[in-house]
Amino acid sequence: MNYDGIVIGGGPAGIFAAITAARQGSRVLLLERNDRLGKKLLITGKGRCNVTNNCSAQEVQQNTPRNGRFLFSALAAFPPEKTMAFFEENGCPLKTERGNRVFPVTDKAISILECLQKELRRAGVTVKTARVKQILAEAGIVTGVRTQNEVISAKWVILATGGASYPTTGSTGDGYTMAAQLGHTVVPAEGSLVPLETAGQDAQDMQGLSLRNVGVKLLNAKGKVLYKDFGELLFTHFGVSGPTVLSASCHLKGDGCRLVIDMKPALEDSKLDERIQRDLEMYKNRAMENALIDLLPRSMIPVVLRRLEIDPTMQANSLTKQKRRALVELLKGLSLEITGKRPVAEAIITSGGVKTGEIDPKTMESKKVKGLYFAGEVIDCDAYTGGFNLQIAWATAYAAGISACKNGV
Ligand SMILES: Cc1cc2nc3c(=O)[nH]c(=O)nc-3n(C[C@H](O)[C@H](O)[C@H](O)COP(=O)(O)OP(=O)(O)OC[C@H]3O[C@@H](n4cnc5c(N)ncnc54)[C@H](O)[C@@H]3O)c2cc1C
Repeated sequence: MNYDGIVIGGGPAGIFAAITAARQGSRVLLLERNDRLGKKLLITGKGRCNVTNNCSAQEVQQNTPRNGRFLFSALAAFPPEKTMAFFEENGCPLKTERGNRVFPVTDKAISILECLQKELRRAGVTVKTARVKQILAEAGIVTGVRTQNEVISAKWVILATGGASYPTTGSTGDGYTMAAQLGHTVVPAEGSLVPLETAGQDAQDMQGLSLRNVGVKLLNAKGKVLYKDFGELLFTHFGVSGPTVLSASCHLKGDGCRLVIDMKPALEDSKLDERIQRDLEMYKNRAMENALIDLLPRSMIPVVLRRLEIDPTMQANSLTKQKRRALVELLKGLSLEITGKRPVAEAIITSGGVKTGEIDPKTMESKKVKGLYFAGEVIDCDAYTGGFNLQIAWATAYAAGISACKNGV
């Protein structure tokens, strides 16, 4: 069997690029190293798959802190509304939730994958299990690929091997090696949307505690605010995680950063002070460790008292005004020193990848090797949570699929 083109990687970007190219009339071979497609797709959105964000192309760019501008043309040609239309028209109804996050109405990622697989079959894409080792090129033009046991010729190749996070899903960074072999610059991979490690014992003492509706600020060593958010945060055995922390991680720069949590963002200092005074009056004969139970989650009380050097057994009515003020200050700004990110393997997204300056942003074609295209997370672009990363996969895959065909049907 002769193929016009080969797509390497059966994740969302690879599958969608293959469908797009095949619908244009190309004979397409999709090679996936796992014995099934879309292993990572199935765990997206906690198994529900936040497939895109119901917003404009411009808003997707604004939510892509790393190389968002590179995506201008791809998103203009394939914005979220086209993603939604694709799934709806092909038998997978969607719904929009808080923050414009779009999910399949079934609340199951498998519905998205099944829809894509049906379209792969309908478009006539050949799918094979094989791990590609090398992309072959002669005189700067793609000629095919080498897998572990054969050489397959093609006029074009789309590299869609994903990043280096969650490697058990198959995304182990193979694409970086293959792109580098062909002369591409690969920006070193690190985690983005990744939990953060903190100094000391405090986070560990509160592990398992999930806070809702808190204010979160990430500050650099000079005290400059790098990121500000409101929402959920989770304490873990190594530090902090949860949606606000994952988003903050995209902005972490340099040593000495701190995460500052406002436990009571709805209350000004004076109101919080009044509230604390009421609690202390109500529980005046209790020990301090039992007097804050209405104000704070139980596992946080020992941490707060330790920080303020308040004896937990001290009676509530003995608390000095000065210590009470310090309590207000602490609850409005519980500061944790960040010591680093968790490893890239634990990150939702890989930051880094094939340098965008070496890719034509309209066609996703390599500026170094003719007939080589890129799609999805293998490119050095990454966005916040909210369906934006999958939208990048769909849009870049569409651009690559359309232009690869033009190159050689
Ligand atoms: C836990 C988790 C939850 C997430 N939730 C969301 C969400 O709800 N919404 C959202 O927008 N984004 C989410 N993401 C991010 C999203 O999953 C990725 O952005 C997306 O999967 C990238 O698609 P891709 O096709 O580029 O790469 P991948 O999905 O990583 O697919 C790459 C494929 O290439 C294959 N491959 C790799 N090397 C080779 C090789 N040498 N030969 C053949 N095949 C190879 C891999 O096995 C893999 O199947 C989540 C990520 C994680 C980890």
